[in-house]
Amino acid sequence: MSVVWRPDASEQQKITVKDLLEQDFGLHIVRIKGSTGVETFQIIGEEPEDLKDIIPGMPGVSDYIKVNASFKLGAREFHPEFKKNGDTHKVRVGDAVFGGEKAVIIAGPCGVYTLEQTVETAKIAKDHGAHMLRGGAYKPRTTPHSFTGTEEEGLKFLAEAKAQTGLPIVTEVLDSRDVELVAKYVDMLQLGTRSAQNQELYNEAGRSGKPVLVKRGFGNTVEEWLDDADRIAAQGNTNVVLCERGIRTVSNTERWHGGRFTLDIQAILAAREYAIWPVIADPSHASGKKNWVPYLSEAALRAGAHGLEIDIMRADEKPRISYMANGKKRTVGYVDFAQGLNPTEFGALMDGIRAQGLDRVVQLHLK
Ligand code: PEP
Ligand code: MN
Repeated sequence: MSVVWRPDASEQQKITVKDLLEQDFGLHIVRIKGSTGVETFQIIGEEPEDLKDIIPGMPGVSDYIKVNASFKLGAREFHPEFKKNGDTHKVRVGDAVFGGEKAVIIAGPCGVYTLEQTVETAKIAKDHGAHMLRGGAYKPRTTPHSFTGTEEEGLKFLAEAKAQTGLPIVTEVLDSRDVELVAKYVDMLQLGTRSAQNQELYNEAGRSGKPVLVKRGFGNTVEEWLDDADRIAAQGNTNVVLCERGIRTVSNTERWHGGRFTLDIQAILAAREYAIWPVIADPSHASGKKNWVPYLSEAALRAGAHGLEIDIMRADEKPRISYMANGKKRTVGYVDFAQGLNPTEFGALMDGIRAQGLDRVVQLHLK
């Protein structure tokens, strides 16, 4: 159920209900306030029947709504505190605001290998108008035989890139045991497509209090994706941003003629229509092809995405790159080499977005 507060309800009235629910009934509350100024309490846990006779009569309560969705924390229909037409919860990361009027562009290398590579790429991202830096220090890989990241060393490179450019950082965390460490270095945690079934990782990321970028599982339905977002919010952390990053479809063959995955543009519309969380798109991981990235970026923004996450490179990198580990030089394949835009290509993409006015989030006519 969801407790909807009258606009003039006092904090004391809210605390009385919170204490009743938490102390007397052992439930747990997530408070959500929307753009209309109205606040709701979303109740987590199995609610006893008699609450429906108690809550509606309590001072300050405007409504007590039955919620019929597994992703009730993020379901728009239970949030009268948000206006229609895809108005969303706002999530601030540094100066970037997801769900605001401006599209948030996150750019950076797929993987971080060296300080130089990370800082140089961050400067390119910044020079072309990106608002945040991405980069993986812990890399989920398709086979166990591939490089899996520079780990804490890589986090230090990202922190230095932030110090030099001012760009806030998002990076993937793969394991619940690493959440605390990763959260110390970065501004936003990314939960990747391969982690979409990892309940404990989600719980831990939610508990970190850091904003979380929830990438859709590539085999997951829209509802399952929104369930994942609710898992973060259920920890009291409503700094949730969704990311559509492509799903596996019949178009995707081993040789990628149809793209590595298929960017599900409809899922962006679905998120805008049914969820209160902002949603961005990752056309780089969706397609795996850099020449498709600008078209997919525009399509995603036209469908109402609140931003993009784009793989870029500091130059035309070589397919293999070296880094130092335990004092020894190691040379590995540059992860996701085929999808990273070089500086000129990224600049053209950003110019194209601005020229079409897509740097402002598109207003939709939704229910
Ligand atoms: C990434 O962004 O580096 C990544 C691995 O993304 P995804 O989980 O969407 O594949
Ligand atoms: Mn990648």
